Amino acid sequence: MKSVTVIGLGPMGQAMAGAYLSSGYDVTVWNRTPQRADELVARGAERAPSVEAALTAADLVVLSLVDYDAMYAILEQAPSAALAGRTVANLTSDTPGRAREAAAWLAERGAVQITGGVQVPPPGIGTPGAETYYSGPKDAIEAHRIALEVLTGIDYLGEDPGLAALYYQIGIDMFWTGLVGYLHGQAVAEANGISAERFLPHAVKTMDFRYFLEFYAPRIAAGQHEGDVERLSMGVASMEHVVHTARASGVDASLPAAILEIFRRGLAAGHGQDSLTSLVDVLKR
Ligand code: NDP
Repeated sequence: MKSVTVIGLGPMGQAMAGAYLSSGYDVTVWNRTPQRADELVARGAERAPSVEAALTAADLVVLSLVDYDAMYAILEQAPSAALAGRTVANLTSDTPGRAREAAAWLAERGAVQITGGVQVPPPGIGTPGAETYYSGPKDAIEAHRIALEVLTGIDYLGEDPGLAALYYQIGIDMFWTGLVGYLHGQAVAEANGISAERFLPHAVKTMDFRYFLEFYAPRIAAGQHEGDVERLSMGVASMEHVVHTARASGVDASLPAAILEIFRRGLAAGHGQDSLTSLVDVLKR
């Protein structure tokens, strides 16, 4: 009764197929580079000889691919009839627009897409507290709730198949820029002989944005950008110091320079005495 197909065996797809094997599922796998299935096959997974065989092996098909182009490249190898009646949990990253197009493309072939945006790295699959943004038909998600929850918890956002992709991309926007901010700061630290381990406790405190998010979110929602706590003019001076420190350390300063440029645009738009949150309006333009 418990069967699932996983297509796409990068680190994420491998973790997912592994979690299903550990939970006693019959797991069928397919990957463009077949050898990536070797370890899973050794653990009991079935290597499908074709995309068609993979699709028809289970009602629930999990896709974990680099993008939706890869999805079309794979699914177009099978006759459309192989998709009829399947639920495709598309846990592949791409834009909200492409997620909506794919849902319509699958619907034309008799399949239902559940869009997912996984919020944990591969080692987080199957661990408590892990979550995935989901959107699409609620009944399809409920029908496969038990199987989906083998991977992560379900954060259901609504029927629009683009919604999970949108939330995911917003989160990734914050995540990559925040993480590269960490890497840039650490590059300056390294250039000054401060190891990542030495700086770790300071980095952890600095990157804990919870206080700021909870303070700013209601103000952003209310369109209130009063400079009572910090002002953009201070931000410009502060970012200039960061750029100069990076350059003096021999470190590429293009990342803080890009932020300084955004701050200066806010200044030019007349927000010098407003809070940094006024940049939301500047960026929206
Ligand atoms: P990878 O890029 O390592 O895996 C990509 C998969 O896509 C592989 O199976 C690869 O096949 C396949 N693929 C790529 N191009 C094509 C193509 N043209 N035709 C057929 N297959 C193709 O990604 P991950 O496993 O790391 O991630 C999978 C998804 O999960 C991504 O959308 C990612 O954004 C998301 N995600 C990943 C996280 C992570 O930390 N890894 C965290 C949260 C989400 P092949 O093996 O043959 O190259």
